[in-house]
Amino acid sequence: VTFLNLGLDKWVVDTCKELGMKQPTPVQRHCIPKILAGQDVLGLAQTGSGKTAAFALPILQRLSKDPYGVFALVLTPTRELAYQLAEQFRAFGAGVNLRCTVIVGGMDMINQAQTLMQRPHVVIATPGRIKVLIEENPDISSVFSKTKFLVLDEADRVLDVGFERDLRVIFQCFPKNRQTLLFSATMTSNLQTVLELSANKAYFYEA
Ligand code: AMP
Repeated sequence: VTFLNLGLDKWVVDTCKELGMKQPTPVQRHCIPKILAGQDVLGLAQTGSGKTAAFALPILQRLSKDPYGVFALVLTPTRELAYQLAEQFRAFGAGVNLRCTVIVGGMDMINQAQTLMQRPHVVIATPGRIKVLIEENPDISSVFSKTKFLVLDEADRVLDVGFERDLRVIFQCFPKNRQTLLFSATMTSNLQTVLELSANKAYFYEA
């Protein structure tokens, strides 16, 4: 199986090649076609499995066809992971002039609000900070009113650290017909709860 067989466009496949990715990993093989087809996904996959590309590549391909508003919000448990994710998104999205921003604690909130109002394609955030921005500024919640993808990376950890209340605030800003993608090292009951908040039926992947 090649990246092309999975339904990815040539520019995406070429980008993968340039980054030294010749063949899809199992999580990519299973999840990329489902994400391209519009399904929600719950993927149980460890760091190092290639899970980031498994969601980033299909999101970027869909975005390249209809880059409207903030296209995707990716939530992750720590600042460090947020910056790592942004680095990967920027590398994968270099060919489509991707505008990607990181919203985490410790940075200036006025700047962050202004950046969000400019509607970057992909927002990578820790839940605490994005929740505060949404609560304090009604204009920010409308930034996500047409967002197509809501991704929880390391979802077990995102849901673990008392972020549940933050997530309810965040989810309220999203359209019901969004695609929800959860990637987690372990299965927890919280993951099921998040999937139940979505209108779609999820595809379940386990290594
Ligand atoms: P992740 O599981 O997303 O943390 O990815 C682990 C590492 O594997 C990253 O540095 C990726 O660049 C790399 N990687 C992801 N997919 C592939 C692939 N299909 N072939 C080779 N390397 C890959």
